[in-house]
Amino acid sequence: MKIITLGTGAGTPSKTRSNSLNVLSTPNGEYIIDAGAPVTVSLIRNDIDLNNVRAVFVSHMHEDHFGGLSSFLKDRMKSSLRNNPAWKIIPEIWLPDADGIEAFEKLLAVQYRGQNTDMVKFRLVSEGLFYDDGYLKVSAVRTRHIPWQDGFLPTYSLIFEAEGKKFVYTGDLALDCSDFPVDAAKDADVCMTELTHYDFLKEIKYFKAISPGKLIFTHIAESLAKKLPEFQQQIDYSAVIANDGDEFEL
Ligand SMILES: [Zn+2]
Repeated sequence: MKIITLGTGAGTPSKTRSNSLNVLSTPNGEYIIDAGAPVTVSLIRNDIDLNNVRAVFVSHMHEDHFGGLSSFLKDRMKSSLRNNPAWKIIPEIWLPDADGIEAFEKLLAVQYRGQNTDMVKFRLVSEGLFYDDGYLKVSAVRTRHIPWQDGFLPTYSLIFEAEGKKFVYTGDLALDCSDFPVDAAKDADVCMTELTHYDFLKEIKYFKAISPGKLIFTHIAESLAKKLPEFQQQIDYSAVIANDGDEFEL
């Protein structure tokens, strides 16, 4: 089982970093974690079989986390796919917001007039354990990444568990990092978090409260990435900056 970071950029992609896109690659199939653009071409160029994708999990409805979904859906809804013997799996698309599901369904209706909608399944993420395919369990913890009116729009950290291993993906967090999922990340084998919306040196207390096997930073603001050596001195586990195309054993 491994985590492949295919998009490690922040909101705006750069010459070397695409928007947020990760694949949990397992003997049971591929799982996409956030679907920032481009998805389809990134999978193809990294030899990840689109026919093997079981599910897509989107942490929150910001474009740099869902903008590549349209191309993935298009690929999965091709009429010709039905005749392809390699096509076995109908992927589940897990979105955090019912409005997001409605928006994608409308987009697909415009493009396909209702054809092939049975070739993908939309599902709504909810707090706690929300996915279990017998191999992988996925749970969600609310974050406070998008303030809205008197509260927050639904945004999540996601916890993946399989083969006795635990992978915590924090998604994007609040500006003060106060929603960091400390309890989940405490004993994680791998924790992946963002490096854009808060200063990790100022918020070091959250990182001292956890002891994952490895900490991976993604969603990289280069101005913060430069401070990694200073950060690493203050914690006693390994922290790395992910690049597009990196692979991490889990
Ligand atoms: Zn965001």
